[in-house]
Amino acid sequence: MAEPTWRHCSRCKQPIACGASYLVCSVSTCNRARAPMVFCSMECWDAHVPIAGHREASAEERRAPAKPGDPALKPAGATRKGKRVVAPVRRRDPSLPRDTLVVAKALKAYVAAASGLRTSDAVMDVLSDKLRDICDRAIERAKADGRKTVLDRDFLPK
Ligand SMILES: [Zn+2]
Ligand SMILES: [Zn+2]
Repeated sequence: MAEPTWRHCSRCKQPIACGASYLVCSVSTCNRARAPMVFCSMECWDAHVPIAGHREASAEERRAPAKPGDPALKPAGATRKGKRVVAPVRRRDPSLPRDTLVVAKALKAYVAAASGLRTSDAVMDVLSDKLRDICDRAIERAKADGRKTVLDRDFLPK
């Protein structure tokens, strides 16, 4: 049987199971006692950073309590056990190209076919930035391997 759900990710609303690891934000406004933000994955944490407008932030890994009723987070700073994972908000060199990386026509056609919904043009900018983020991570992996070529596997989960 699956573990009971402790909470839901503040971003994607996926359940975070009891005993599962999850992420919290280092910024105090994301850890208000009444409604602390919890994230199921680095992607979800990443996604909240521009929305929250953090200039500097990191994600900390925590483990959900064993039972659904157990108290949530200790106030930020009180838990020293959480190991620091990845983190600094990436600030991209402003001289790098800012082109739209997605084919708007194809994306809109996909969304329309999949759902009948329309797609706002602003979506292309957000997705382009996400693609740049993903590419930055793949570049780091390729460099760490000492390669001069970014490969498909650099985009796959480790
Ligand atoms: Zn999530
Ligand atoms: Zn935050």
